[in-house]
Amino acid sequence: MKQPEKITLCEVGLRDGLQNECMVLPTEEKIGLVKGLIDAGFKVIEVGSFMHPKAVPQMADTDQVFQAIGQISGVELRALIPNLRGVQRAIDCGCKKVKLNVSASLKHNLKNLNMTPEQSVAGFAACVEAAENAGIEISGSISMPFASPWEGVTPVETVDGIIEAYLNVGITEISLSDASGMATPKQVNALCKHVLEKYPQASWWLHFHNTRGMAMANVIAAMDAGMTQFDTSFGGLGGCPFVPGAAGNISTEDVVHLCDESGIRTGVDVQKIMELSRHLQEVLGHGMESYVLRAGRNSDLIAAKQL
Ligand code: ZN
Repeated sequence: MKQPEKITLCEVGLRDGLQNECMVLPTEEKIGLVKGLIDAGFKVIEVGSFMHPKAVPQMADTDQVFQAIGQISGVELRALIPNLRGVQRAIDCGCKKVKLNVSASLKHNLKNLNMTPEQSVAGFAACVEAAENAGIEISGSISMPFASPWEGVTPVETVDGIIEAYLNVGITEISLSDASGMATPKQVNALCKHVLEKYPQASWWLHFHNTRGMAMANVIAAMDAGMTQFDTSFGGLGGCPFVPGAAGNISTEDVVHLCDESGIRTGVDVQKIMELSRHLQEVLGHGMESYVLRAGRNSDLIAAKQL
């Protein structure tokens, strides 16, 4: 099995996690968490989204969070956007990196948007132009490129079509997002190898939800294929409003711990992340799905035995 020397993590708990919580976190609390994540070593953080506040009230103050944090050298703070209005909000609040998203499910897209996924992506051209004119970086995400609850396994040709649509509008940073938590390691390994070989001009992110306990195996399978950029969520916070029984993203602590124990550098301090997760557990009033948060690190056990 191949493993990289170093990987880059993007903390998505503030967006993918908090958007699924009943509680709307106070803006000051979010600002404190962003600062805590930067202090823990994160160089990429998904701070929130510019969705319509009525659709996702938990993210309504994303603009204020960006304004409060400002620009921090060497740290990329990004937001998910649905459309051109999202680019405008990014411009207005000083956000310098945005991410679009499309579902790889043809049925899902036709039902919700009356468009194929490729047509959706082609429609993003105006967002790309507006972002570039404003000096904002733009990336794209493909939701359910492995499998969807509507159509089962996603054909590779479908994924290729969406990737090519993104490349056509000038987006070369692409995230493969297993929002349904249906991906399996062998499939992940094969699709990752396929896209790395076929589209060498692109930069890839992997985003796994642990809905069926397969997220860590999928991270390892993706690393084996040569992938080095992963989204994680502190405490495994998250879910998906469209997917029944969806669990959160793979937990940041668990991935950083795996990497620490395997000699893969992440630049993230697992203990600082665990402190943030414990704090958030208190604020939210419920537990979280993180093995390491529950059981502690391997090295903590060894230290305890030596007493
Ligand atoms: Zn997600």
